[in-house]
This record gives sequence, structure tokens and C-alpha cells, in this order.
Amino acid sequence: AVIGVVSSADPAERRVPLVPDVARKLSALGAGIVMQRGAARGACLGEADYPEVTWVDSAAEVLARADVLWVVDPPPDDLLAGLRPGTVLIGLLQPYASAARVQQLQERQVTSFALELLPRISRAQSMDILSSQGAAAGYQCAVIAAAHCSKFFPMLTYAAGTIRPARVLVIGAGVAGLQAIATARRLGAVVEAYDVRPETREQVESLGARFVDTGVSAVGAGGYARELTPEELIQQAAKLARAVAGSDVLITTAAIPGRRAPVIVTAAMVAGMTAGSVVVDLAAESGGNVEGTVAGQEVQAGGVRLLGPTHLPSRMPVHTSEMVARNLLNFTAPMLREGTVQIDWADEVLAGTVMTHAGEVRHAQVGRALN
Ligand code: NAD
Repeated sequence: AVIGVVSSADPAERRVPLVPDVARKLSALGAGIVMQRGAARGACLGEADYPEVTWVDSAAEVLARADVLWVVDPPPDDLLAGLRPGTVLIGLLQPYASAARVQQLQERQVTSFALELLPRISRAQSMDILSSQGAAAGYQCAVIAAAHCSKFFPMLTYAAGTIRPARVLVIGAGVAGLQAIATARRLGAVVEAYDVRPETREQVESLGARFVDTGVSAVGAGGYARELTPEELIQQAAKLARAVAGSDVLITTAAIPGRRAPVIVTAAMVAGMTAGSVVVDLAAESGGNVEGTVAGQEVQAGGVRLLGPTHLPSRMPVHTSEMVARNLLNFTAPMLREGTVQIDWADEVLAGTVMTHAGEVRHAQVGRALN
């Protein structure tokens, strides 16, 4: 079997789904590898770093040879149109972002695995790109917040006295939020955090942060958060307003799978923050947890800086490419048997992640979203 990698069509995407160490492992498994020239440049890697890889000039040449295509984001339409029937496409495919894309994959008889759909069971953790990239994004949120804050994160003692540490509030304590908490703590800030899932209290406290209790808990399907009722929203807002007003830094990471991000912090709550405070809204791209944040921009709201950074994992492309490549290897390796691709449809991980196969939409929820 031949694994292929093309250059990303998005100039802001610097991650590459295959790193040299993983290329070596694929080769040891008997796979061939074909990559488009320049595909690894964003992650500071060149042809000499990949002795096992055959380099070609165009994406079309990759598609002509590859049985399996690895991607970090959905390929653009023209590339999809060049996929051969039976090609196996694996990566982050944003299954709910474009019905036209799903239909094109279906019509082209591509076997597509969208890793956003990966069942979150223990065995699949090593394949979980959303988690690895969520952790990277959470780390980056804390670093960006520290760089934009008008205060030091740590307590600082100098000849004329002591400066108090910054107060950080993290809303949404999933994979990204927990990494933001851990990073802010390592930088010495005093951290508080809040999530609607009650089990996060223990996780937050084990990182040395204080849990903000609003009395609202909302666990839905699969252990994820569910949308709040209007009454719950009011109760949450009342309790959170105090915590927001008392923080120098607000980092928000709240999400509900397949939905627009919940708006948790209103403009009035932001107005209650002291001048010089900073807000980093990780959810800005999917609608925003904070009223007023704009994806990809810095907005000034009174004395508060509102940041909606995008492409966060791409800002550390060397390490995030490594993470993605290992996740993809762990997902793909069981399919590589005796030089061919053999998919065991009885495997719940593969069956749960498949989006299209043999001209059909195989994922029930993705199928429903098409109609
Ligand atoms: P996510 O990105 O979907 O959501 C981020 C966080 O936002 C979640 O913790 C959610 O509870 C929170 N949230 C939603 N609405 C909120 C609101 N109104 N106010 C405050 N917080 C709100 O979630 P995620 O980080 O991808 O993962 C969430 C869950 O999945 C966790 O339970 C995590 O442990 C679990 N998980 C399991 C595995 C596995 O077992 N393989 C892997 C990864 C994650």
C-alpha cells in the first residue's frame, strides 16, 4: 500500500501529517510513501529528512499513486475531484462543515475516515487528533494570554517589594481547557476554572486551580456537555459574572459537539473586567464563547483586549505535526496488511469513524445532517 501526502491548500496551515520518524515506521510496515514537494516545509522539514519517501511535483501525481491519503484538514474541491475511487482518505475532514464535500466523497467512491468522529474509548486515545490538537491549542491560549496581559503571570519579588500574580479564569475544562490551566499554573498565575460537567472539578483541582461552582451541571450524550436551558444560563451568568470581574485573564474553550459554541460571557460581563485585562476565546472560530470576540482579530472593548486566535496548533508545527502523524499511524497501521489496505468493518473504531465508503454515506449522524 502507498500512503500519500499533498501540500495543504491553506497557507495558514503549517502542520504536515507525516513526520520522518513516522515515515520510517510506515516503511517498516511495508508501506510505500509518496509526498508532494514542499508539503513538509511548514513544519521546517525538507526532502532530505525523509529518506523513505518518493517526492513528486504535483498533488495529482500523489493522488495517482496513493492508496491512502493523510490530511490535517479537508482537501479543497479540485483535489477531491481528482481522488481515485477506492482511495482511503484519513484525517480531520470537518464532517459537518460542508454537505457538498461529503456528497463529493460519496460520489467519487472514496473511503473517508473523519477523525472528528473517532469514538472516545480508551483504545482509540492514541489515535485521537482532536485531543492532541486540543491540548496544543489550550497550551497556546495560555501563552498568548500571558504575552498580551498587562500583568506578570507569576508573583514577582523585587527590591522594592512583591508584585501579586495575575488571576486567570478558564471556562470550559475539557482537553484544551485543562492544558490552558496547567500552562497558566506553570507560569505562576492564580487559576480558577469552570465547566458544566461536574467530574471536571477534581481534574481542575488536581492541577492546582480552584473550581468555580455555579450550581449548574449539564451532562449530555456520551459524557459531553449538553446545551443549557434559559434558566440554567441565567443562573450560570450570575455566578460567573463575579469570577469574570475578578480575573485579569479570561480563557474560554467551551464547546458542544456538532453545535455552535455556547455564548457564556456577555458584553456586560466583559465590561466588568478591569482595564488592562485580556480575553482569549478559543471558540471564536465556531461562534465564540464571549460576546464581541472576532475570529482572527484583536478587538478592544473598553480597556479589555479581546482575542480570537485561529490556527492555534499550527503555531507549533514541529510538535503538532509529530502528534498528528503518530495519531494517524496508530489509526492506519491495523489496516496495512500484506502490502494491501484491508479494513475490518467489525472494528468499532473504524466503523464509528467512517464517513463515506463504496458510494454510500456510512455515518448515520453525518447522513442525517445532509438532509
Ligand atoms: P469539547 O471540546 O467538546 O468541549 C470543551 C469543554 O467545554 C467540555 O469540557 C465541556 O463540558 C465544556 N462546556 C460546554 N458547554 C459549557 C458551558 N456552557 N459552560 C462551561 N463549559 C462548557 O470537549 P473535549 O475537550 O473534546 O472533551 C470533553 C470530554 O471528552 C471530556 O469528558 C474528556 O475527558 C472526554 N474525552 C475522552 C477521551 C477518551 O476517552 N478517548 C478522549 C478525549 C476526551
